[in-house]
This record gives sequence, C-alpha cells and structure tokens, in this order.
Amino acid sequence: MSALDIAAAVRSGERRATDVLDEHLARIEAGDGDIHAFNLVTADAAREEAEAVDAAVARGDDPGPLAGVPVALKDNMCTRGIPTTCSSKVLEGWRPPYDATVVTRLRAAGAVAVGKTNLDEFAMGSSTENSAFGPTHNPRDLTRVPGGSSGGTAASVAADFTPLGIGSDTGGSIRQPAAFCGVVGMKPTYGAVSRYGLIAFASSLDQIGPFASSVADAAAMFDVIAGPDPRDSTSIRDYAPNASSVLDRGVAGLRVGVIRELSGGAGTVDGLSADVLARTQEAVDALAAAGATVEEISVPSATLGLSAYYLVAPAEASSNLARYDGVRYGLRVDAPTTGEMNTASRTAGFGPEVKRRIMLGTYALSAGYYDAFYGKALKVRTMMLREFAEAYEKVDVLVTPTAPTTAFPLGERTADPMTMYVNDVCTIPSNLTGHPGISVPFGIGEDGLPVGVQVLAPALGDELTFQVASVLEAAAAGGAS
Ligand code: GLN
Repeated sequence: MSALDIAAAVRSGERRATDVLDEHLARIEAGDGDIHAFNLVTADAAREEAEAVDAAVARGDDPGPLAGVPVALKDNMCTRGIPTTCSSKVLEGWRPPYDATVVTRLRAAGAVAVGKTNLDEFAMGSSTENSAFGPTHNPRDLTRVPGGSSGGTAASVAADFTPLGIGSDTGGSIRQPAAFCGVVGMKPTYGAVSRYGLIAFASSLDQIGPFASSVADAAAMFDVIAGPDPRDSTSIRDYAPNASSVLDRGVAGLRVGVIRELSGGAGTVDGLSADVLARTQEAVDALAAAGATVEEISVPSATLGLSAYYLVAPAEASSNLARYDGVRYGLRVDAPTTGEMNTASRTAGFGPEVKRRIMLGTYALSAGYYDAFYGKALKVRTMMLREFAEAYEKVDVLVTPTAPTTAFPLGERTADPMTMYVNDVCTIPSNLTGHPGISVPFGIGEDGLPVGVQVLAPALGDELTFQVASVLEAAAAGGAS
C-alpha cells in the first residue's frame, strides 16, 4: 500500500494507525534479520505516535497529510532521547537532547517514525559497508550492497518495511542507494530542507531528502519536510515548494539535455556500464515520446566533480568531526592527559574510512597545500556552477544515469577506496552546485537488478525534477525498457 493510500485510509478512519504500524513492525521483525536496514527499531515510541494519530482521528481532528505512515530515519538524524549513532562507535550511548527539524515536521504531519537506519559511518561511503555495525543487504538480492550511504533507508523502503524513509545526500547518498534498491530518492536544492539536527558531514554539500516507492509518495514527503527554518541559517527563505501539485503536468515542450560527459558521448567518464547507458537512453527516448525536445549538452567540468568533491568534502569533514574528542559526546577512552584521552577516544571510535577522510581533509587544508588542493577544488566548483548555468540557458532539465552500474556484490570494492568513490561520478556535480536531483527506477540491468535514471534541474527546480520523474515512472511501468 502506498504512503498516500495509507494516509487517506487513516485520515478517513477506515484504518487505524496502530494497525498499520503493527503490520509494518511484523514485516521488519520477519525480514530485517537478513537485511539489517535498522540500527534500532523504536517500537514503543512509534506506538505512542500511532496512538496519538488515532486519537486525533477519533476527536475529529486531521492528523496531517502523512497520517499513520511509518517512516524510517537515517541514523544521522537527531532524535530526542533516542540513540543516534551515525553508525559509528564514537557516538556510542549518545542520546540527542533535541529532534531534527525533519523529524519534528514529519511528526506534525502525522507520520510515525519506526526506527533508525544503518549507514556508512558518518555517511562516508557508497555501500553501507563502512558501518561500525555491519553492512546492510540489498533486499532485491541479499548478496549485493544496497548502495550508500543511506543504504538502510533505501533497503527499508525497498523491503516494504516502511513506505517512506529519510536520507541525507552529500555526494549521492540518497540517489545512488535509491537506484541500487529500485526505489525513488530525491536530493533537494541546497537549503530547501532544513539541516537542523542532521549530524554534519560536509556542511556546504549535505542535504536531507525523501525515499519512497513512487514519485507521488516521495513528493508528498518532500512537501512536508521542505521549507524555511530559522534554526538553519542556510535554509532558503520564502521557499514553499508543492511538488505534489505538478506531477501530472507532463513534459510536452520541455527541453531535456543529455550531459555528453556522463552519458557515453565523447570525453565521457570511465566506468559507465553499457546496460545502464542503454536504460538512460531509453528514458530520454520516453521523454521525447512524451513531447519533450532533446539535445546533447557538454558540461566538461562534470568530469572533474569527483576530484573536487574528494577535497571539499573531506576538508569540511575534518573540521566537523573535530568535535568528537571524548569530552562531550559518546565514547571516551580514558588516558592520563586530556590530549592522550582525545587521541585514544578518536583512535578507538572512528573506523578506517572516517580516519582516511579526516587525514585527507586536514592535509588539503594545511598551510602550503591549501592553494594547490582545497583552493583549486573551490575553483572547479565555481567553474562547474558557471557551466551548469550555461547548460540551463539551453535546457530545462538534464538526464544522466544515477550510478555507473547496478548494485555490486558485498565485499567487492571494500579493499580499494577509488573503486568505491567512482560510484558518485554522476551524482556529485549537483552537490557541488547545490542543485536538485532525483533518481527514478527505469528498467533493469543485465543482472536483473534495478537501474536508476537521474533528473537534474537548476536551483529551486525541485518541483520540476518530480514532474519529469513522474513521466519516467509512467513510461517504465508501461514497459518502455
Ligand atoms: N559516497 C560519497 C562519499 O563517500 C557520498 C556520501 C554521501 O552522499 N553522504 O562521500
């Protein structure tokens, strides 16, 4: 049952939120042993929320647009009094004193949070294998990764443990796992959704966004969580998108661009698989058949995104993660002096990928190397903004693959960070530019696993990404691939 159908049934009194919850908790109980989508299932707190929804309906009040819909929260969203780990040992035992704004907004809309989902430690990774608590398995094939870093949330939605889920996307962490698990995932325009209460990885890139089984459900969730928040100074003022209202507008007359460098054209990046490229082409053909015009666009700096990202993101992370010093949060390993205690706590608390990022970032920011590395990455970022602005003078949206391949086998890429990093080649540019992007399932690869196609738009084009995704969803369902 879709999120919107559940909400309609609960609002009308036809179904009780507590019954909906029980049904989903039973599915989690039966299936999550094999999948490990959740770090923590908060059944008691969820029951209280569901009872409050039922009580509102009984009183004749409207509990909101997501009434009684179970949602999964990535475990880097702060939840008051409930452990929030970032899948790291360093946050062991920590219970945030406040809720993230997205959590507050979802509750106010009647949604029922059922637990905290697994992720790559501090959201650093593309497979959820960097979790301190063990990997998540892809519900479509348990021998494969679910993608990452929001792999737990993607798996929860794909396994139908929850109709909706919340993820965060710094370089692709919503869109790539959505593609790998065959669900819809959307990264909003930077500032469209409040980051208050999202544990920071790279603050100039991080955005929170929705996961769902359908474009309409994802749009409904986006509409609830988007909008200004005085608690996040980077949230956009006076921005109140209503994606649900544009889903049936179609794409007639819309100008669609295909990024040559990310779609197998001349000068294309390495590693894009033939089946993923074929599905992407079919998606573009479907948009043309629906009345869009299509043109190839060159965005040369898109090929530099990966290099720039792996300087900017670790640089910001090295600063953001300095706060885990054993003093205020989570794990403390005692030692004779404060300095030694800091070192011992961080050594024991962080996993290898997080340590690698902190070292990379500290190096890129250090005196003598700043201009050559961090400064240069910022120049690439500016150049990319300019090139995308030029592209959007010619077209309304851009279409690319979401990820270079379908979901790969667990363990295949853990030994070589570079093979892991290349997963984000198509998603990273829109984090560097702050633009929105959505991944929508479009057919399957040679291995029978889902392929995701990505729709990109300029800043504040969030509604447009949903509008185009909706057409692709219909085309995919019609057997276009
Ligand atoms: N996979 C990318 C990384 O490892 C992106 C992660 C993310 O978006 N949080 O940094």
